[in-house]
Order: sequence, then C-alpha cells, then structure tokens
Amino acid sequence: MPLRPASRQALTLRAHPQKHVFKTRRDVERYFAGQTIQCLLCGRRFRRLWMHLVAKHGMSADEYRERFGLPWTRGLTSAASAASSGWTEKRKAKARQIARRSQFFKRAHLAPRRNFAPYHKMEAIRHLGISPRTLTKSFEKRVRTLFDKGFTDRQIARVLDVGASTVSRRTKYWRHRGRTN
Ligand SMILES: [Zn+2]
Repeated sequence: MPLRPASRQALTLRAHPQKHVFKTRRDVERYFAGQTIQCLLCGRRFRRLWMHLVAKHGMSADEYRERFGLPWTRGLTSAASAASSGWTEKRKAKARQIARRSQFFKRAHLAPRRNFAPYHKMEAIRHLGISPRTLTKSFEKRVRTLFDKGFTDRQIARVLDVGASTVSRRTKYWRHRGRTN
C-alpha cells in the first residue's frame, strides 16, 4: 500500500495513537510561549512542568515529550519562568527531594531518544521533495535522511513508494555502523 501525500498524517497517528500529538512546529512554539505550561494529562498549568509530572503522574520529562510529540531539546519550563530565573535554593532543594522520592533518575532515560517528534518527522518528509521512484544517488540520500530521523524500514519504503527490501538493503549496513543524528 503506497503512501500518498494525503495519508502522511496516518503515519503519525499510527506511531502515536494519543489524542494530543503536536503536528506542526507552530503548535509546539505556541505550547511553550505562555507564562505557564499546561499539563496535557490533567489540564493544570505550571511554570516548571517537569516537577509536576514526576511528582503527580510518575512520568519523566522524556516520557512526556515522547507521548505528546514534543522535541527532546525543549525544557519543560515556561518562557517567562526561564527568563525570571527564580530558581532559588529552596526550590532546588524541593526539586531534589521530589527527584529522590520518585526515583526520577531511574526513569529519566526510559524513553528512546532516537525517536524524533512526529512534527519533526513530517517536516523531514516535506523537505525531501518526494518524486516517483528514482534509484539514484538522491534516492539514497532520501532514504538516509528518513533513516536518521528514526523512521522504520517499512515507513521509509511507504513514503518513497518502493519495496521494503530496497530500503533494508541500505539501512542494514547503516544500522551496523550507527546513525548520524
Ligand atoms: Zn498533570
């Protein structure tokens, strides 16, 4: 079943079945732009969301980013809060206490870092400039780009409209040598 442009969205939804998955960079920017950040699990708002996630939902910041398709590189702190830098000794002590009690560091790296946020993956597809199957050097480059973004062989084959073995012949070799992120 070849992937047509209209069904690219379906690729995102299959990979992340949750309701609130950020699909565009603009949505992500808007989410972080306010005085506070809303918790998408319970709706409450916080200046530093990660402390709340750990304390109330037993979820690490990485797990939260993975679940809602937020980029790995963004801290879960509102823009206003980061700017005011009200990170007092008392607050730091409280954060340490929460981290200890919730075994935060045990959980911190559970989510696979290789998974890029869905909106980021969709941008990668748009930037490829997809055309019908072309078994050239530029085809190789497209496979490589998607591979580096964390797509599976099957997803790459669907996006580029080629057989899975055409993709895996290349990725098998790259996987052996490690991705270039
Ligand atoms: Zn919450």
